[in-house]
Amino acid sequence: MARDVRPDQGAVKPGKPAGRGLADQLARLGLTRDADLVLHLPLRYEDHTRLVPLASVAAGLSVQTEGVVVNTDIQYRPRRQLVTLIADPEVREAQLVLRFFTFYPSQQKALQPGQRVRVFGDVRPGYYGLEMVHPNWKAITEGAPLPDRLTPVYPTTAGLGQETLRKLVARALTGSPALLADTLPEALVARRKLWPFADAVRYLHAPPPRLTQSQQRALDARTHPAWTRLKFDELLAQQLSLKAHRKARAQRRAPVLTGTGTLTQRLVERAGFKLTRAQERAWREIAQDLKRATPMQRLLQGDVGSGKTIVAALAALQAIESGKQVAFMAPTEILAEQHYRKLAAWLDGLDVPVAWLSGSVPAKQRRKALAALASGEIAFAVGTHALFQEGVEIPHLGLAIVDEQHRFGVAQRLALRGKGVAEAHQLMMSATPIPRTLAMTFYADLDVSAIDEMPPGRAPVATRLVSQRRRQEIVSFVGKQCAAGRQAYWVCPLIEESEKLELQTAVALHAELTQALPDLRVGLLHGRMKPDEKAATMAAFVAGETHVLVATTVIEVGVDVPNASLMVIEHAERFGLSQLHQLRGRVGRGAAESTCVLLFEEPVGDVAKLRLKVIFEHHDGFEIARQDLVIRGPGEFLGARQSGVPLLRFADLERDVALIEQARDAAEALLAKDPAAAQAHLERWLGGRAEFIKA
Ligand code: ADP
Ligand code: MG
Repeated sequence: MARDVRPDQGAVKPGKPAGRGLADQLARLGLTRDADLVLHLPLRYEDHTRLVPLASVAAGLSVQTEGVVVNTDIQYRPRRQLVTLIADPEVREAQLVLRFFTFYPSQQKALQPGQRVRVFGDVRPGYYGLEMVHPNWKAITEGAPLPDRLTPVYPTTAGLGQETLRKLVARALTGSPALLADTLPEALVARRKLWPFADAVRYLHAPPPRLTQSQQRALDARTHPAWTRLKFDELLAQQLSLKAHRKARAQRRAPVLTGTGTLTQRLVERAGFKLTRAQERAWREIAQDLKRATPMQRLLQGDVGSGKTIVAALAALQAIESGKQVAFMAPTEILAEQHYRKLAAWLDGLDVPVAWLSGSVPAKQRRKALAALASGEIAFAVGTHALFQEGVEIPHLGLAIVDEQHRFGVAQRLALRGKGVAEAHQLMMSATPIPRTLAMTFYADLDVSAIDEMPPGRAPVATRLVSQRRRQEIVSFVGKQCAAGRQAYWVCPLIEESEKLELQTAVALHAELTQALPDLRVGLLHGRMKPDEKAATMAAFVAGETHVLVATTVIEVGVDVPNASLMVIEHAERFGLSQLHQLRGRVGRGAAESTCVLLFEEPVGDVAKLRLKVIFEHHDGFEIARQDLVIRGPGEFLGARQSGVPLLRFADLERDVALIEQARDAAEALLAKDPAAAQAHLERWLGGRAEFIKA
């Protein structure tokens, strides 16, 4: 097959005896095949085609120039460095200092007086006049020809020089025509007006001579059609692999959960409120999925406070009506316990017993719950990840619900998989909204139901940015409000590097507020407390026995106390955007007008300032997540938790939205009409990493 990109043909074969080191360096860059070198595209380009006379070199420019070495010596102040002075022999005053902070004796030797060198770098004013720090340089003879095209600069790793990379790439490009063969059918390339693959990669690795300014700009900005082709191919590979995932899932079987409507009907009647239209819609979508024999993998997404829990409870009851068991898992003890209480209250009288499993459940009670689950006597289990630990048997599992799914780590998710969850329906919930581009790419494997409407009667939360200097005002504000019957959270500063320090700070803050507000009762909640202590503290706050709850971020997720209408966050500048949004979401749950005070310590860094501005200006979780994506970039946004999904190298989720859509359509067409081409395409882009497709 002509289009086939055979991965085994063309492993990188280092030519020199120092090859081992080279192969390792290349492997570090993910370059194990010639096909990978073809796709190792330049980060940027340098213009070595023109020579600026030394006399015209000025500070602030990035230039290529040349001169003759006048002298070279090692200086020891402020630190060891090699300083070389070059000059133009014709124009004596034209001089430039080259400064190297790391160098080899061979380099010092090569820069002998009289030697002509060509250098490329940024010019800046220095102690002896103009200088270049660590320029690209090479020894030449007078009149040595200039290259006629831009010089690519590749991503590299320690010890691997640009020259070596350039040579390896050039060899890969000419090595085997199969490596440059188009994986896409001609018709597709033509219809989408794409450049042929071979033309595009050749262009990017070695742009033709004499580019116009606009061509060069397009190349740098990655808007050039050659870049477009590569981005398209990359996105297409991603879409193809996602579709492969989906296909694998479609082949699995899950129990058909038709339900009878008896329990769900009664829950709707008992909830004490009417479902919003968005909740109704999400519930309908889930109910349909559960009736199918292929496992549901649906993400229920809704901003903080939008009412996801009741929808999950309805799904659970449909499964239970169908004679199956349900596991409902939350990431923290506090949240799991809260769910347990709420569900038990809702289901009280419906004759649906709920088992409660977490690390804190006493052994005896736990044994009883486990036995009841194993025998099928209890159909509904609520808990932390303890639900999926050794010894827990849920033989008729029909539905697994995972709340705040983004909070679970990879290990926990894998454990879940091992528990027969692959054969069950899965409902994941998250308040962290996925920006559209991520939903189309990294999360494309999930179906999404969005609750895009808040329950009625919620007053918006007023957000105030206040400097630490005015802290006393806030303390008395909280005192007054709580005296008038309201309740407040006071969130301790985040101290990521030390849990111990964080704890001390929480204790100190609790002492401070207890003293400053003698008429109020102040509670303390932190991660080091025993589960039953935490539960008791929360219960006292829920019951209104404590007025102010000093807490670490353990309260960030899911906590629901409608009477709490004040939130103070200390050192708000240290928190991430989604954390701030989650924390602020703890208030504004009742009818009372709510306030969120963000205390910040000056000076605030630029990025932190940007975050505070976003959280101050926006309330919509989608918009905040979008801004977060812009500030942090998708790699960070997805975090290490998403490992296994290769991040995009060339396409940009913010700028290339239109291209993502095209790639999605193309993936569908390709799989339908030319699966061999789809396979070849995946092989080229994912190669050795292709096995993740089957995961
Ligand atoms: P989240 O989506 O953040 O998990 P919850 O499910 O905890 O939100 O719901 C937030 C609060 O709103 C809860 O107290 C819940 O009982 C209440 N709630 C949910 N749906 C409605 C509704 N349709 N009308 C009024 N209150 C609702
Ligand atoms: Mg919730």
